[in-house]
Amino acid sequence: MKISKIQNTGYEYVASCKDEGAQYHGLIAIHSTTLGPALGGTRLWNYRSEGEALWDLLRLARGMTYKNALAGIPFGGGKSVIIATNGVADRERLFRAHGRFIQMLSGNYITAEDIGSTTIDMDYVGTETQYVAGLNQRSGDPSPSTARGVVRAIQAAAKFRWGSDLLSGRSVAIQGCGNVGYHLASFLHNAGVHLVVSDVVIEKAKRVVREFGARSVAPDQIHSEKVDIFAPCGLGATINEKTVSLLQAEIVAGSANNQLLSDHDGNALEERGIVYVPDFAASAGGVINGCIELLGWQPFEALRKVDEIYDTVLSILKTARNRGIRTYQAANELAEARLSQSGPTKNSG
Ligand code: NAD
Repeated sequence: MKISKIQNTGYEYVASCKDEGAQYHGLIAIHSTTLGPALGGTRLWNYRSEGEALWDLLRLARGMTYKNALAGIPFGGGKSVIIATNGVADRERLFRAHGRFIQMLSGNYITAEDIGSTTIDMDYVGTETQYVAGLNQRSGDPSPSTARGVVRAIQAAAKFRWGSDLLSGRSVAIQGCGNVGYHLASFLHNAGVHLVVSDVVIEKAKRVVREFGARSVAPDQIHSEKVDIFAPCGLGATINEKTVSLLQAEIVAGSANNQLLSDHDGNALEERGIVYVPDFAASAGGVINGCIELLGWQPFEALRKVDEIYDTVLSILKTARNRGIRTYQAANELAEARLSQSGPTKNSG
């Protein structure tokens, strides 16, 4: 294995690692361990270059610091990505190589699933390191908990916007019907919500149409749907200067990490009167679920903590309104306050 440290990021640790035998090229970023070991998933994606992977990695790792701080769990923020531009020849060898890289960080970074990786992949990682959550036989797939947290975030935003958190009769557009989007659709359908969905993989959207009576639209149509709530559950950066003006919804709340391409897009949303629930507040259900495995929590304790996302989101939205600041600024400030209560962020380049 050949590890190259990447300097001058302002993060505690960033490195790239290659293992030719396993056709592995991965990167790990530890943004902060102020609140505990850095916890954040492994994304497997066909990045066009290491530079593109690094850009994504750094944004994701920082987001995890804020997500874990807001969720009130004793973990810092980090993330890893695996570059799969040429496809994956042997998943077991690939993820075991990733596990060896993680093991070298001596517990400062703990991984779990993310886009492109599964509980089975985490089992492979787990053959090389103990610093992994989301194993098949333990807390398992975090997506149902993430989706439950997104429902709580949507309810809080509804309470803030419309004075009632009852969702029956409301309409929600879900972008992305993968692990989280599917479970979100299920919860919302049971709550009497009308669903519009899209996915670039048409079969995934069709499944939600079949099972939950959703209407499906083309991926480039979903932003323009006349709905009450828009829920981004696909990739990041889908709220950008092209899409903000298309939105008909009054609330944006979903699981996708880094939904805003830039802060400017958060400002643009609010200037249009759209309530934006910061993604790292809404999508913490999965990491909270990981505490069953990592901290020995009982499932009911994790559920209770996931449900607290309602209170956190409502408090962020009210703080933003009372202080005349953006919701993402209020969320950042709350997370930073929790970080500073624990001491300064370590920074070893
Ligand atoms: P996933 O890969 O299972 O699902 C994502 C889905 O989005 C896929 O079906 C994909 O085809 C679809 N998609 C991608 N681009 C799209 C587009 N432009 N339009 C429509 N559909 C598109 O991933 P997931 O686990 O469901 O995660 C979804 C998002 O939530 C990701 O951003 C992830 O980082 C974030 N997240 C997930 C969890 C979790 O527990 N899985 C936790 C926190 C955050």
